[in-house]
Amino acid sequence: MMKYEVVIGLEIHVQIKTKTKMFTSAPYQYGAEPNTLTDAVVLGLPGTLPVLNYEAIERCAQLGLMLGCEIAEVCKWDRKNYFYPDSPKNYQLTQNEQPLCIGGSVEIELPGSARNIEGEHRWVQLNRIHLEEDPGKLSHTAFDSLIDFNRAGVPLAEIVTEPDLNSSEEAVAFLNALRNLIVFAGISDCDMEKGQMRCDANVSLRPKGSDVLGTRTEMKNLNSISNVKASIEYEIKRQAKLLDAGESVTQETRRWDASKNSSFSLRSKEEAHDYRYFPDPDLMPDTMDRNIVQSLKEALPERPFDRQRRYQEKYSLPYTITSVLCADRELSDFFESALKNHDSPKAIANYLVNDLLRELSAHSEVGDSALSISDTKMKPECIAELVEVVESGIISKQIAKEVFSEMFVSGESPKVIIEKKDLSQNNDNSEIEALCLEAIANNPKAVAQFREGNSKAINALKGPIMKATKGKANPATLDALLQKLIQASE
Ligand code: ADP
Ligand code: MG
Repeated sequence: MMKYEVVIGLEIHVQIKTKTKMFTSAPYQYGAEPNTLTDAVVLGLPGTLPVLNYEAIERCAQLGLMLGCEIAEVCKWDRKNYFYPDSPKNYQLTQNEQPLCIGGSVEIELPGSARNIEGEHRWVQLNRIHLEEDPGKLSHTAFDSLIDFNRAGVPLAEIVTEPDLNSSEEAVAFLNALRNLIVFAGISDCDMEKGQMRCDANVSLRPKGSDVLGTRTEMKNLNSISNVKASIEYEIKRQAKLLDAGESVTQETRRWDASKNSSFSLRSKEEAHDYRYFPDPDLMPDTMDRNIVQSLKEALPERPFDRQRRYQEKYSLPYTITSVLCADRELSDFFESALKNHDSPKAIANYLVNDLLRELSAHSEVGDSALSISDTKMKPECIAELVEVVESGIISKQIAKEVFSEMFVSGESPKVIIEKKDLSQNNDNSEIEALCLEAIANNPKAVAQFREGNSKAINALKGPIMKATKGKANPATLDALLQKLIQASE
């Protein structure tokens, strides 16, 4: 048992999806040819002035409302001064003193156990969310250092938590919950590989029971959730070893090296930059219109955990299904549209969580990111119709699987596929009766077991009949018919 309590605070940068950058009309698109999405403002040429893109403010306020923050009456732009090739202006515009969003909290679900697959929920406190501009992106080869200013000036929301997380698992649960909230709100896709979400982790230890915070280190360069987890675990061990040896932790910034699975010191507190923050003389403070804040509040989407609880309560769907549906906004929206066409939540949810996700992963190219529903021709009405034709006995569940796969590829409606492939259930009883009699004659042992009261023995007879009818015999009809014929042949 560790004798220390772990304390973690995260700082998360999220690129906000806006049509244009934060202080100029240059657009942004991931993956564009380097340095094609710049202009005089982005490059900090003399004589240029920033013009605020109000969309960035609104979207960040929307994010703040989604996370329960208070939206400031007035927010203000400061210059964070530093000299580095990723910033041609030699300062970054940020909100140091008066951030847009204050406080807030995020509901997280801790990992479950074998007995309780649904983990415990708790709220993690936030300190603030402020806006700032993204710097350019440096990359280093063996010979050169290269700079791409496409990303420079893109609006970033920096979400700062209180030191309110106590393990690497909690940090992971927090990032997953936060990412899902932001994706649900349509503010960012939060693709960490594309740099749309980036995280720094502050970690400290203190003796169990103490209420004084220990000295922290800040870990940079965490570009995946698994790196966040690994780097925190590494840092906990490193600090515990120092403290065990009676040494102290140095307050410093460290850089995570995923390839070595370890971190190294970048700079200590003494070497830390003095950013000489001061208010930007070219930008006025922004007063937040309360009517806009109110209308943003009214238009907020449902939060993922709220949606999940609603599915559990209203539709009695199990956690194993709701947790999958609500981990993906697109999937759960698809579920809701299908439901509007046919009110069978359980059956529809099962097709989505089992069949649809299986087909999506089966059709994804190895190495590429997984296909999403919008990449396919699938329509919610079609799932609804599929459930309807199964419920009304037009096709069996077994045939429905075949229809589903066909529908996934062609986008045609189940009824069209059933018609085209002549799949509707074979209810020609004389043909099935003949097959039943044949099966009874061929399986005396199973028939005898059935007569002795083993009701499952009848299943041995069904296989060959289903095979002969290519699955088109209605299972319930077949069951009744077989029982009747066995009794009659006694
Ligand atoms: P800075 O001024 O260096 O940016 P902040 O006070 O803004 O520091 O905190 C940055 C982040 O570090 C926040 O997420 C905060 O919760 C976290 N943090 C602060 N002190 C500690 C600590 N002792 N242990 C762990 N995390 C901490
Ligand atoms: Mg800070």
